[in-house]
This record gives sequence, structure tokens and C-alpha cells, in this order.
Amino acid sequence: MATQNPTATADTPDISDLPDRTEAALTEVMSVLDDVGLARGAPDLYLVVSSSGSEYLVDTREETCECPDDEYRDITCKHRRRVAFATGERPIPSWVQRDHLDDHFGEHVDGDPRFSATDGGVAQTRFDEGEVTDPEDDPFAVHSDDEDRTKRAKREDIDVSFLAKPGRYEVHSASDSVYGVDVLAETCSCPDTVQRCKHLRRVDIEIRNELVPRPDGKLPDA
Ligand SMILES: [Zn+2]
Ligand SMILES: [Zn+2]
Repeated sequence: MATQNPTATADTPDISDLPDRTEAALTEVMSVLDDVGLARGAPDLYLVVSSSGSEYLVDTREETCECPDDEYRDITCKHRRRVAFATGERPIPSWVQRDHLDDHFGEHVDGDPRFSATDGGVAQTRFDEGEVTDPEDDPFAVHSDDEDRTKRAKREDIDVSFLAKPGRYEVHSASDSVYGVDVLAETCSCPDTVQRCKHLRRVDIEIRNELVPRPDGKLPDA
């Protein structure tokens, strides 16, 4: 890559700067299936179906693909590259624009595509119903250096509402439990005895990102 500094926009990398097979792996319509046909029950085997309907078996342990490109040339074909991106084994460069990616990214496989983060860490991207969210813009994107409770605070289906009392929020957890969080006293009514439980963390994230009213009850600045 020409530059390590993403703010040096003079020569911002473009997806077409990538090697052709990497660009194809990111942008072409392909489905990666990890539990179908010959790939069923075999953790290293993936079936890659192209938009033309061709099917190729990729073996990540043997590092092979059945396609002629891979079989007859000493290269890594686009199918193998796609499997590596789709399973998260290889991070997608963080500067690649999400709308350039094939919409089917991350379907049908265990594991999630990852983007390399600009700070060198790796952020896990959420792929909701085919919609790709930029981890930089997503308050709930999980980063590799997040603590465990912070990860859970972001990932779990937690619902936060403001209780019209200063600092008080009601939190509905994924397990249907309801807890009272007081962000001024930094307390939560859940049994977790750690100083800052995931509910408190989740409320903090939602306040910071203006998803709920601030502790003083004021709505986020319009
Ligand atoms: Zn191939
Ligand atoms: Zn709690």
C-alpha cells in the first residue's frame, strides 16, 4: 500500500488498487457455504457458488480450490480469498468502502468478516440483514481490545429507557430481566458484583451516542 496514513487523502487507496483477485473476492457476487454438500461436517471445506452458478470446493487446510485458476497457476484464487474474508480469517482493509462489498458477505458461514482497524486493532463488523455497518460509525461494533463485559454490553439485545429521574435508566436484558441503572451513583440492581456491569456500560454507550436522553433528562442536542 502506498500509505499507512488514512488521513493522507492525496493518494487514498481505491479498491481497484488491490490485486485483481482480491478485488474480485470482495466485490463479486459469491456465496460461501460451509455446511452444504461435500463441505457438510468438514470444518476446513467451503463450497463457493459464483453468480454464474459454478461451484468450487475450497479446502482451507490444504490451501486448494477446484477452480482452474487455482489448480493450474501458483496463486491464491479469488474463491480462497473470499473464504478468508468471509470467515474473518483475513481482515478486510479498513479503507474499503462497505458499499463496494458484495451484499452476501458473511452469510452462511460461522465467523464474521472483520475490518482491520486504522489503529491496528481489529473491529468486528455487524452484518445485519445484509447491511454492512462501518465499525467507525457503529457504537455497538465490538473491538478486539474491548473488555469482555463491554463486548457483552454491545452485543446483547439490551433495551435501555430513561426513567424521568436524574440518572436513572431501566434496562431490559436479552433474558427478559429488568434492572435499574443509576449512572450518577454508578449502580445497577443486577447480581453482577463487578464494579461496572454490562448494563451500566450499555447505558453509558447509549448516552454517549445520544440514543437515550442524557442523565439530566435533556434530550440530545438537536
Ligand atoms: Zn478458486
Ligand atoms: Zn447490571
